[in-house]
Amino acid sequence: MLTTYTQQINGETWLVEDDRDNLKISYRLKEIVAEEQSEFQHVMIVDSFDFGRTLVLDGVVQTTSADGHIYNEMITHVPLSIHPNAKKVLIIGGGDCGAAQEAAKYEQVETIDLVEIDQTVVKLCQEYLPEVSGRLSDPRVHYHFTDGMQYVKEHKNEYDVIIVDSSDPVGPGEVLFAKSFYLDIYDALKTDGLMVCQSMSPFLNQEITSQTYRRIGETFPHQKLYIATIPTYPGALWSFTIGSKEHQNINVESFDKQTKYVNYNILKSCFELPAFLQKFV
Ligand code: SAM
Repeated sequence: MLTTYTQQINGETWLVEDDRDNLKISYRLKEIVAEEQSEFQHVMIVDSFDFGRTLVLDGVVQTTSADGHIYNEMITHVPLSIHPNAKKVLIIGGGDCGAAQEAAKYEQVETIDLVEIDQTVVKLCQEYLPEVSGRLSDPRVHYHFTDGMQYVKEHKNEYDVIIVDSSDPVGPGEVLFAKSFYLDIYDALKTDGLMVCQSMSPFLNQEITSQTYRRIGETFPHQKLYIATIPTYPGALWSFTIGSKEHQNINVESFDKQTKYVNYNILKSCFELPAFLQKFV
């Protein structure tokens, strides 16, 4: 085993997330299911006692079978309920395939391009994390194993919706929070296209949340912030930022997708923000 991210404590195996200066989060593990050191990062699938099957990149939890659906449903169904007729969807990152699985629930969507820098993430999630990946084999999903920043530079006026499902702004994910990246996304979208990205914890990463909101606002005529509670993400309260050329509001009269978290009322109220976040908008 390659692992340097687990510790033995009193005969038990723990995953210790210690990428932060002032906060460590630890998960007691049943077992390490798979791990590989890829060209880009350390990729590991573990079974944890409280959160089930879990994808861990460079020692940081990315998604779990217990709460991954909250994140994947919120990052996908909100933009796809704002755009009235999305046919071409681009997902950047998202190697756990959860967002692609949600996007594939829309019949009108014809193409889902998934641009993931690290093929190992897709391979291990397809094999060992079916609760999130759904072992997705939809013919509309096309995988591109390359850098998302480079990919958007090479595509103009092509997509209705772009979902930036990135890891945190360290390592390969850092470029996906740059202003120049949002400008390239703007160009990759059609004239009424829109994007969404995960914009971190408004408690623990308030600077990143506000910087992302500001950068997207400088790039797009319309921007919106929304939140969801995702228990395994540090701070639990997580933010998402929409940048849109035209459409701004939830555009559906009902919601009929098979989901575990999102429903019509969640969609209709998703832009209601608690008072402390009003200052962002
Ligand atoms: N839901 C997670 C979260 O918020 O922590 C993120 C999902 S995770 C599967 C994000 C993926 O983005 C990783 O698989 C990582 O390999 C990928 N990624 C990071 N930088 C990238 C880049 N520059 N281009 C494409 N994919 C990238």
